[in-house]
Amino acid sequence: MLDNVKHIILILSGKGGVGKSTVSTQLSLALREKGYKVGLLDVDLCGPSVPYLLQLEGKDVHQAEEGWIPVYTDEEQNLAVMSIGFLLNNRNSAVVWRGPKKTSMVKQFLTDVCWGSLDYLIIDTPPGTSDEHITVMENLKNVKCDGAIIVTTPQQVSIEDVRKEITFCKKTGIPIIGIIENMSGFVCPHCSDCTNIFSKGGGESLAEMTNIPLLGTLPIDPKVGQLLGKSCVREFPDSPLSKEFNNIVNKIV
Ligand code: ADP
Repeated sequence: MLDNVKHIILILSGKGGVGKSTVSTQLSLALREKGYKVGLLDVDLCGPSVPYLLQLEGKDVHQAEEGWIPVYTDEEQNLAVMSIGFLLNNRNSAVVWRGPKKTSMVKQFLTDVCWGSLDYLIIDTPPGTSDEHITVMENLKNVKCDGAIIVTTPQQVSIEDVRKEITFCKKTGIPIIGIIENMSGFVCPHCSDCTNIFSKGGGESLAEMTNIPLLGTLPIDPKVGQLLGKSCVREFPDSPLSKEFNNIVNKIV
């Protein structure tokens, strides 16, 4: 039930492992920190990592008369989360489904979850452009969707994959809000110097080439691994990672 959801943002990536779920969860938490009511829908059916990243594993989704009640991260109910991970027996259970079953699950996620009033619904999608994406796009046709944010890393292969995501968005008519380049350099915790471990400026040149805004470049930060269930902008407000997240949030709200 998306009737009272003001903004919907899809998070896409061409490849797995580029930090899409990290961006989805930290962006949701950063929006919550700003005082917005946020929902996070994880439609990565085969690799749902949102429950783990938010330390909500083992929590139950309740089936009420009006639909599924999502899991909340906080007592104030400012961040609601829905993921197939809550419906599986354990973290290592795998979803081995053919297309139609996946399609109907994603459709149910979009129509049967009682999100209530939300300022932002962030949708974390699987890597690539699969059944889940097509279903999301089709079901959002009649709902106002702000658009997609594409997450990439600076390497050439990842950038090439982003081009495919851009083509997909154009074909399905979803506007692209911008690109986030993740793992863009390593900021030394001792001297604060930034070392570009991978080639530099991939996101920037892609943004220029495609005329799509570069929303931010997130550095590699070893603290990311400690962020389970925690917001980086709250825990480490002065870190370069948090500063970039704050900039990104300011650009999209
Ligand atoms: P995806 O959703 O694209 O598969 P994840 O968000 O699961 O990627 O991230 C993959 C791994 O990279 C995780 O172990 C995550 O903690 C780590 N990671 C992601 N972004 C960063 C970053 N900016 N700095 C350090 N580690 C990161």
